[in-house]
Amino acid sequence: MATFRSFIGGQWLDSVSGRTAPNINPANIDDIIGETQLATREEARRAVEVAYEAFHSWKRTPPPARGRIIAKAARLMEDNKEELAKILTREEGKTIGEARGELTRAINVVEFCAGESRRMTGETIPSELPANFAYTVKEPHGVVACITPWNFPVAIPVWKIAPALVAGNTVVFKPATNTPATAVRLTEIFNEAGLPPGVLNLVLGSGSEAGDEILNHPAVKAVSFTGSTETGLKIYAQVAPRGVKVQAEMGGKNPVVVLEDCDMDLAVESTAQGAFGSTGQRCTATSRAIVIDRVADEFVEKIVARAKSFNLGDGSDTNTHIGPSVDEGQFDTVLKYIDIGREDGAVLLCGGKRASGEGLDNGYFVEPTVFDKVTPDMRIAREEIFGPVLSVFRVKDFDEAMAVANDSEFGLSSSVFTNDANNIYRFVDEIETGMTHINSPTTGGEAHIPFGGIKNTGLGAREQGSTSLDFYTELKVVYVDYTGRKREGNLY
Ligand code: NAD
Repeated sequence: MATFRSFIGGQWLDSVSGRTAPNINPANIDDIIGETQLATREEARRAVEVAYEAFHSWKRTPPPARGRIIAKAARLMEDNKEELAKILTREEGKTIGEARGELTRAINVVEFCAGESRRMTGETIPSELPANFAYTVKEPHGVVACITPWNFPVAIPVWKIAPALVAGNTVVFKPATNTPATAVRLTEIFNEAGLPPGVLNLVLGSGSEAGDEILNHPAVKAVSFTGSTETGLKIYAQVAPRGVKVQAEMGGKNPVVVLEDCDMDLAVESTAQGAFGSTGQRCTATSRAIVIDRVADEFVEKIVARAKSFNLGDGSDTNTHIGPSVDEGQFDTVLKYIDIGREDGAVLLCGGKRASGEGLDNGYFVEPTVFDKVTPDMRIAREEIFGPVLSVFRVKDFDEAMAVANDSEFGLSSSVFTNDANNIYRFVDEIETGMTHINSPTTGGEAHIPFGGIKNTGLGAREQGSTSLDFYTELKVVYVDYTGRKREGNLY
């Protein structure tokens, strides 16, 4: 059985807390992967302090030299891809195919960020005055806290850590407590790639204690958070009085809109992939299907047949399509929402309970679930469930579909299924989400394309792609006057 420790100032640290948390395979709770030593507040503080000490020299390291280390980390991730994918499946529960996909995305992001190290350019700006010009430079903030969830425990940490480091910041990384093994392996890889001690520190501990202590440290100048809206908004309020920069990617309630003229098989398959893939535990998972009444019976019949066709099981078995919920808490939450849906009057068409049978009884498996005749006032229509549960809404026309789609506090991703170009562009104009897809699932993204949401889903600069360094850098503007004379005009 493995022991997972924090990594502070280049050393793996035995915590003095004496408190541990088991790391359990959610597909088989008898499979205990290891034990995490939970860091104390003092240890979390120490991680920020060593990151602060390492900052001044890391900031002076030329960006392309920082990028070379990040590029090496990408190569090491590639070399260890299969091992990482297996760890990911075992501790998070997603299928091995999904885990490999997450690794591919993560490696692409790290490669992209390594390239960005050679593009940390500013602008040169002509002046209103003769023999004057201005230019801009990008500078790091200092210590950045990267606080991450369990659902993409490889991709999300690296899409924060890699740009933060390339930009010249040092990092304190606080992953979710139920995915320590991937966090430890990633930290080892970045360390092996050649980061100096203190540049990347890992704190394994609870959010309310270790996470809270990191956030309260005055040396933390920026926080990149991904997780629930409740935690994200709390963190935002906590650090705002110190003027700390915050980037937060939070919950979702992503809709697909299915119009009459769509390719129905494509709409059904894409909705099924979006709703049930990764066990519905993607921030971009499809949770609402908003379907024009005239085609709703056909949609419902086909999506139920598809939901029933998936094999549930241990993700390491290549015949498995859908893995378990990540832990007991998440499993209970999903079952609780299914009860709420029934009580609120939604019509349960399939699923709706714990999955049982060979290979399932020892894990947190929930049957893929479809509710019909959901209305916008129901809790299953409004709150994030984060499980394999799809709610179908029947609407009379395009306008009602848009009203229902936008009736949400969240705004991460969405899709429309139609072959009418006018409706496609009306949808793009009117939909209130940070990302939208035309005739494809609500899920997915690419390393070189910005990612994130609006409304109560997203705060601050977008992650990834052309915007990936925006959050991690300050802009310094430099005015240059080479007249050698006292200025006469332009005295404002
Ligand atoms: P969570 O909010 O419970 O926890 C996220 C992280 O915050 C964890 O590391 C946790 O330990 C830490 N944390 C909790 N309380 C804290 C505190 N008081 N101070 C400091 N840190 C604290 O989220 P989760 O259950 O791990 O992840 C699921 C959520 O993440 C879902 O809501 C999902 O939509 C969201 N998510 C969003 C995106 C996106 O890009 N929008 C991507 C993935 C996941």
